[in-house]
Amino acid sequence: MEFIQKKTADNAAEHFLAKAADRGTKLAWDRFEGQLPECGFCESGLSCRDCLQGPCISHPFRDVNKRGVCGKDKDILAVQTLLKLVLKGTMASLDQVSDFVEGVASGAVKPKDKAEADRIVAGIEALLKEGGAGMKKAFPKDLLAAWEEAGIYPQGVAKDLFKASQKVEGGVAGVEETLFWAFKAALLGAFAQRLQGGLKKAVFGAAPAEIEVNMGILKKDTATILLYGRFSPVLKAKIAAAAAKKKVNVAGVCTDPLLSPYVFAPVTSYGSQELPLMTGAVDLIVTGDQFVHPSVAAIAAEYNTVVVPTETLKGRNPEAFTNEIVEKALNAFQFRSSVARDIPEAKESALMGLSAADLDVKKIAVALNEGKIKGIAILAGTNNVKFTQDLPFVTMAQEFLKDDILCISEGDASVSLAKYGFLNPRQCGKHCGDGVAKLLKAAGSNLPAVLDLGYAENGGVAEFLFALSAAAKKAVKELPVLACFAEANRSAEVAEALGLVAMGVSTFFWPSLPVTGSPKTMEALGKLCGEKFGARLIVHTDKKMEPLAKARMILKVFNRVEDPILKDHPWTDWKTQG
Ligand code: SF4
Repeated sequence: MEFIQKKTADNAAEHFLAKAADRGTKLAWDRFEGQLPECGFCESGLSCRDCLQGPCISHPFRDVNKRGVCGKDKDILAVQTLLKLVLKGTMASLDQVSDFVEGVASGAVKPKDKAEADRIVAGIEALLKEGGAGMKKAFPKDLLAAWEEAGIYPQGVAKDLFKASQKVEGGVAGVEETLFWAFKAALLGAFAQRLQGGLKKAVFGAAPAEIEVNMGILKKDTATILLYGRFSPVLKAKIAAAAAKKKVNVAGVCTDPLLSPYVFAPVTSYGSQELPLMTGAVDLIVTGDQFVHPSVAAIAAEYNTVVVPTETLKGRNPEAFTNEIVEKALNAFQFRSSVARDIPEAKESALMGLSAADLDVKKIAVALNEGKIKGIAILAGTNNVKFTQDLPFVTMAQEFLKDDILCISEGDASVSLAKYGFLNPRQCGKHCGDGVAKLLKAAGSNLPAVLDLGYAENGGVAEFLFALSAAAKKAVKELPVLACFAEANRSAEVAEALGLVAMGVSTFFWPSLPVTGSPKTMEALGKLCGEKFGARLIVHTDKKMEPLAKARMILKVFNRVEDPILKDHPWTDWKTQG
């Protein structure tokens, strides 16, 4: 049986691991250990339970059990497993943007720029009904041409997602065709994120802000609401406005922290999302579905914390229910006065929510062209219990920055890095090599070592890539940019990774993807990504690889040092090692 050695790099989180063990509270890490050994069929994509004749497997070693009852072989099982993940991930982006549109259309908020908000709402409605025809201005021409040539340009939710979902239901689509549907679905998710980012800017405005992160931001003497997960910014703004009137503290977990004029300080990162409840300092949580462990309900009950699922608020008058939520939080604060508040000191400053417009992208392009920096790493994704929480992100950022790789991050990866000071402008000098340090001084005002481009749902990374591509006068695929999902977890991250590859960004993805049981799928994926997008999706199966070894492997690409594993990487002109 395999057990992880250290569960988290975050000292504040570690404090609660001991407390949970004393109390007998089961956390994600305990449940993971209880699940070991993992099912090899599921892990490699060789299982299926898509119909009631199953579940089925394709056995990689025996001569029997090669096909499921309906005839799916290992290649179809694996490629369909990937498609199912992408479909679910894309639905997450579409669900968010459709809730946002519903909130804006209800008139519950007054957009800062009404004309622009109306234009984007119309664009979102068109995307949902008619496809991506109206999105052409949001992407560079060379990418649009590549997507059209590859046959993956989205034609609409009904045409694409309904059809793609039926590829797992039956029929004779092979590996290549199924992969096309996966990329088409992933692009719909990327379109939704670009629209959501635009709508957020039009309705609430957008500006970076220096905020505080980690559990030390919780308060002993104030009623506190935590917002869990991704849900409508309109609902979040309404709750924040009602809470501000009654001086109730509102913070967030796995939720976009910036919604001008409100800030939902990130209390922790994804992997330790159960732990803020164990501080005893949370009176009420409002929780969406996305990125939220179902276990938070049980832990909240242990600490008498009130749980309000967002779905219970649908169709109700926002003024009435937000006031009701705040009253409930105040009452909970009173009746929970006997619950001890155990708040760790951990707290860090973080500059979050930068966008391409806040950065001198031309200077970044010049630094790349002149070799002042070796490349740009995009650190993305959440945490995965299979790794020491945050350690892969922290190790990669440390190693990359020292070696003059500019690091940008988004979403929960940013929160992970923020806890260790990487987003604190006053700690910038501590982490960076000369090239990156000089560039950060020149490219913006008071920048930290790692640049957060907001939550993935707002499409900030794509916006930055396109601005950089225009400034460098090169296609995205010709730029030395790599994405690293160092501790990936959710299906939304799988969809986002495929979207980045389709934009021309080679992407490292850990822990693995459930396609490894099919060499044919792996090969077809490599061929499609290389030929159509000039990028690669790099999936490693070595479970024992240490974060430092991963960082050094990626640095070989940035340093153009030839490595057998990476030898067909697109934009490098390899020099031989040694
Ligand atoms: S869809 Fe086919 S492979 Fe999947 S469970 Fe049903 S019979 Fe088995």
